[in-house]
Order: sequence, then C-alpha cells, then structure tokens
Amino acid sequence: MSTDYNNMWKELGLDLDAHNALLEVLNQGYKDIYLSQENRPKSMEYFDFVMSEVHGLRIKELVDAKKEGKKVIGSYCVFVPEELIIAAGGISVGLCAGADFALEEVENYIPRNTCSLVKSAIGFKLGKVCPYLECADLVVGENTCDGKKKAYETLSEMIDDFYVMDLPQIKNNTGKELFSKEIKRFAEKLEELTGNEITADSLKKGIEIVNNKRKALYRLENLRQEKILPISGLDALLINQISFYDDPLRFTDSVNKLCDELEERIKSENSAYPSKRKRILMSGCPMAVPNWKVPFITESLDAVIVGEESCIGERGLRNPVENNSDNRSDLIENIIQRYFKIDCAVFTPNKERKDHILEMAKKYKADGVILYGLNFCQPYTIEAFSLEKELEKNNLPAIKIETDYSQEDMGQLQTRIEAFVEMI
Ligand code: SF4
Ligand code: SF4
Repeated sequence: MSTDYNNMWKELGLDLDAHNALLEVLNQGYKDIYLSQENRPKSMEYFDFVMSEVHGLRIKELVDAKKEGKKVIGSYCVFVPEELIIAAGGISVGLCAGADFALEEVENYIPRNTCSLVKSAIGFKLGKVCPYLECADLVVGENTCDGKKKAYETLSEMIDDFYVMDLPQIKNNTGKELFSKEIKRFAEKLEELTGNEITADSLKKGIEIVNNKRKALYRLENLRQEKILPISGLDALLINQISFYDDPLRFTDSVNKLCDELEERIKSENSAYPSKRKRILMSGCPMAVPNWKVPFITESLDAVIVGEESCIGERGLRNPVENNSDNRSDLIENIIQRYFKIDCAVFTPNKERKDHILEMAKKYKADGVILYGLNFCQPYTIEAFSLEKELEKNNLPAIKIETDYSQEDMGQLQTRIEAFVEMI
C-alpha cells in the first residue's frame, strides 16, 4: 500500500497490530497465488491494484463518502438487493470473509462445528480487523441457514445497527409473500437510515447500475466458455470477489476493458495456459476473499476452473432485474421477482439449482464438477449427495470436497483433486 493509512484505521477502531498481521498474510498469499501466475491479461493490473488497496484507498473512498453524508451498508448475502441500497443513495459492501481470525475467541461465542464463513464473520468483528465492517452504518444479516441465523443474534450484540431480513425457505405463494414484505420493509429501513426517498427514478438508476455490473461479469463468464481459455479461473474468481467491494461504475468499466482484451486473446489463440487442461466447474458454497485454497490447488494441477456455480459466481449474477417501468411499485416488484429466483441451498426443494448446474456444465464444456462445501454447512453438503448422483447419471464425473479455511488439509485435498483430474 502506497500511503500510510494508520490514522484512518485507528479512527475506525481497528486493532492495528492484528490488522497488520492480517494484511501481511493476505499480501503474501496474493503474491504466491496470484502474482506468480504466468501470461495473465494486462488488464488484470487494475484488479491487482484494487487488491493492493483493498483496506486502503477503497476504505478512504468510503470514509470520504460518509463525510459527505452517504451511508455505507454492509451485508453477508446476495439476497440483499444492491439496487435498493443505491436507489436510497447508499453504498453497498460485502462483508463475507474467507479467512479465519481470532478462532479461539470465536469458539467462546459459537461452537467449533460451525462453518468457516460464519466463524470468520464473528472473528473479524472480535479481532477488529475488518475496515468494511467498522465503516458500515448498517449491517444486514438474513435468516438463511441456521448457522447464520443464530450467529446474527451474537453479532447483533456486538454491532450497533444490525438489521435482520427474514427469508422464506420454500418457493411458494406464502414464501413469496413473506419475501415481498421483507424487501419492502428493507426499503423503508434504507429510507429511514439515509433520509432519502426511494423513487421510481432512483430505482431505475440503481437497477441500471447493478444490471450493467452483472452484464459485464456475464460477458466475462461467456468468454470462459470458449475452447481457448483467455483467463485463469483464479483471476475470474478474484474479479467476482472484488465486485462486492469496488465502486460499481468503475468496476463495470474495468471488467468491460478486460473483456475487450480477452476477446483479442481468443482471436489470437493466446490462452492463459500453454497446454490443454481438464475443465472444471466449481459448485457450492461461496468463496470470499482470500479463500483461494481449492481453486489454487486445482489450477496447480492439469486443470482449470471454467465457471463457478456459487453466490460469488453465476448464482449471484444471473437474471437481471427488469427495468421496464416508470412506476416505483412495479420496479420494486421486479426486484422481488429477480431475487426470489436465487437458488441457494437453504431452499427446499431446490430443483432449480440442480438444473442450473447441469446447464452450466454443458455451457462451460466442463469435464468434471467439484461439489465444494465448507465443513458443517448442512445445506450445501447435503445437496452434494443427490447432485453427485444426478451428475453421474448425466455422464459428468463429480467429487465432493468438504474443507475449511485452514491450511491443514492442503496435502489431502491435493491428493484427492489430483486423482479426480487424472480420472476424468
Ligand atoms: S449461499 Fe445462500 S446464504 Fe450464502 S450468500 Fe448465497 S444466498 Fe446467501
Ligand atoms: S456456507 Fe453453509 S453453513 Fe455457512 S453460512 Fe453459507 S449456507 Fe450457512
């Protein structure tokens, strides 16, 4: 990081020693995993810069915006509509973390057999190491899995303005009614927090900004379906991860510039990899920064990840919101329609997800699927059993992987994934 941000971090209430230790690990991991890749597209420089300033310049932008009266809204799930936050004049940031922190202390609050995503949410708060969390004027949780739902009770005692959105578990009329009420209640909460009315015009703007962001990311996903792979799976995952932090307009522009370059690379047959590799679809729990463990292992082998069926991937991206009305209620209804389609494993039954995985495997020309689950994540690890059988019925080899954020199982994972890649 080029500038000294210590005063800013101190004012935000971060524990400077703990935060420095986290940044050191993050920077080293980034260097080893990302900067060591060969033949990366030139336009990845922007995303490298964002990562080098992820706790610096971007936080300064948020702090400056707050001084001008803007509100920062942090969330842990793709069910929280960014369109509404932008329409209320707020800034949306993702809070999910992909690293363990203060694990021993965390286990004084929640049991050891909780998934790493939930543990890291508590650990980052207890350890005072996340400037996004400390910047947020409102933190939004959602009643999805039991782990999150109960951990939010704990987090709400540590965070001043903590808001919980209730979510249904079945996609029927009753579920839709609850979801619809909850989206409208959230819109009211945003208006109250920001002091700004959410109007048809501001909604149209919010929808346009988020649709454009998703469109650019989709453009990138489409390019990964080509035979010539212009970008590594690791880089594509990183871009999806950054989409939760960066300014949406600047981010969209940068993804589109990258896609221009990738199109050229495809034309000139300039692949990110010198030889043909096995194409893997990654499906399951979201991978937040800096959770790069399984993709790193996979791409160190004779394989490449061509797509992610994940909330940090296509599950979070697909289905744009229709922007076809000048009426506030219609636009809110369009947002409800779009978000109600998200096929998270907390829903039962969840046939849409199975269909989507099969569709993705075909589109991305996958040779095999890694069903990725975090230890103790019941929704995704239970779905993995029936998914594995369904994929095999469709002649698609699959492997179930359960892991966490530690490095302890690196060797074991490497052996299993290597055997899988050789077999497909
Ligand atoms: S996996 Fe489910 S709970 Fe987790 S971010 Fe996605 S939608 Fe939300
Ligand atoms: S990974 Fe699974 S258990 Fe963890 S928060 Fe997401 S849905 Fe819940």
